[in-house]
Amino acid sequence: MKAVAVLPGKPNSVHLREIAPPKLTDQPHPHVCKIPEGRAVLVKTLQIGVDATDREINEALYGNAPPGGEHLVIGHESFGRVLEVGPKVTELKPGDYVSCTVRRPGGSLFDTIGRNDITSEEVYYERGINLCHGYLTESFVDDAEFMVKVPVQLKHLGVLSEPASVCAKAIDQAFLAQQRLQVWNPKRAFVMGAGQIGLLATMMLKLRGMDVYTIATRPGPHRKQEIAEAYGATYVSTKQTSLNDLVKKVGKPDVIFEATGNAEACFRAMEVLAHNGALVWTSITGGKHDVTIDAAKINLEWVLGNKLLVSSVNGNRRHFELGIAALSLGELTYPGVTEKILTNPVAGLDNYQEMMRLLVEDKDALKVFVNVAEDR
Ligand code: BGC
Ligand code: ZN
Repeated sequence: MKAVAVLPGKPNSVHLREIAPPKLTDQPHPHVCKIPEGRAVLVKTLQIGVDATDREINEALYGNAPPGGEHLVIGHESFGRVLEVGPKVTELKPGDYVSCTVRRPGGSLFDTIGRNDITSEEVYYERGINLCHGYLTESFVDDAEFMVKVPVQLKHLGVLSEPASVCAKAIDQAFLAQQRLQVWNPKRAFVMGAGQIGLLATMMLKLRGMDVYTIATRPGPHRKQEIAEAYGATYVSTKQTSLNDLVKKVGKPDVIFEATGNAEACFRAMEVLAHNGALVWTSITGGKHDVTIDAAKINLEWVLGNKLLVSSVNGNRRHFELGIAALSLGELTYPGVTEKILTNPVAGLDNYQEMMRLLVEDKDALKVFVNVAEDR
């Protein structure tokens, strides 16, 4: 069967290759963890989303092949339909729609309690990213433990399950950490960045009843503004209104969800957070970027204001469930809005070059995803 892969370490190596189709009895990543007897699930791939991580893996900024091979099948945002399940799988059946988690458990305590998303080991194993093959292929097999059911009524948004899990986890982590305050009832949120993560976070924070400002550089009108406003948020272009001017106008935010992919923005966010507030960092910024900040002022304000910085990456199955629940509630509350994020479908694995071109060149592409197979 066909798969889209890279040769990690070699820039622009994305290519189509033939790989053996998986069987229910396979162990897809025996170097990390084994599927327990009878618990395997075979899935037909329907749609796979791609993001900046795939672009950066193709730029050879990070990513590693599984041991013993040279290539890495990419794609970590999965959506498919169950073809076959092992005899000990009771929670899924053929025909169900699923998304599969990304990270597989290593050896730390956190990995053993189902919290591989917060592994304390430096090496992490992620399907399609690091040391495990991904989903950009015609079918895949994995442990039922890592498959999360997507309701039939939500199948048009199923490919957003993984990004939604990342947002749901980050927000959940902020609320869990803020239990330090005994009472926290955040009213105002700034979401920095209006890519898929920024927009899904906008939706989730609106669903929690907050007054949300979605902040990005480009002045509207454009699709990002349209989506943010359809969720009931206010879109702000920093070309028109600086962060400081926005604060003068509306007040300091209790929550800042940072998802710009820009290292300076991560630190500028520290200058505007309200007392007792939580700043959530989700951007993954490769390369090097020096910034000048007034460290004394930030330190003073952060200590005197008991402010919190939470960083968050990945999502485990509970976060997928939270993300899918939020997508569902979002669909009922703002019907038809979230699908506007799905801007750029690519027809089939054969068009992998067009997929990568959109990721690299098209600044308007909010979500690039591959329609791998028809849902029949
Ligand atoms: C993925 C996460 C992953 C992170 C770090 C992101 O693009 O969506 O699941 O943990 O990259 O590799
Ligand atoms: Zn990702």
